[in-house]
Amino acid sequence: QTCALPILDVHRLEEGRAFWLGGLKLPSSFGAVGHSDADVLIHAICDALLGALNLRDIGFHFSDTDPQYKGIDSKILLRNVMALIKEREFSVVNIDATVILEQPKVNPHIPAIQVILAEILEVTIDRVSIKATTHEKVDSFGAGEAVKAYAVCLLSK
Ligand code: MG
Repeated sequence: QTCALPILDVHRLEEGRAFWLGGLKLPSSFGAVGHSDADVLIHAICDALLGALNLRDIGFHFSDTDPQYKGIDSKILLRNVMALIKEREFSVVNIDATVILEQPKVNPHIPAIQVILAEILEVTIDRVSIKATTHEKVDSFGAGEAVKAYAVCLLSK
């Protein structure tokens, strides 16, 4: 089983926030806004994994009004999602994701992000594809007002 469409997550960017992306804190004076640590890349990956097994979505499992998830490290959410996957005797084959962000540059951080995610997803680093692109200064993403990530995954029983 796998999903047919790339899964999308979006977060608004704001000055003075920590910028968590793929479990890594990016050097930045601004960051993403959310109930959790607002890690848009991990959220998209969680939704891809959940969607592949028809397990609803991240908001269903980890409500954004539940105080226990306020400011939570999204790596914990991803570990919880992996537990659901493994409970059903599935494992991750690979993931592919793209981050759309005007700045800071994501590319230099991709190897570190791959290491973090591969450990949680229980795959080798070569199975964790992370890509980054800008929005070419077009619309709110291009103006640096928001960050977006897409993810797809393949699971096997
Ligand atoms: Mg999110």
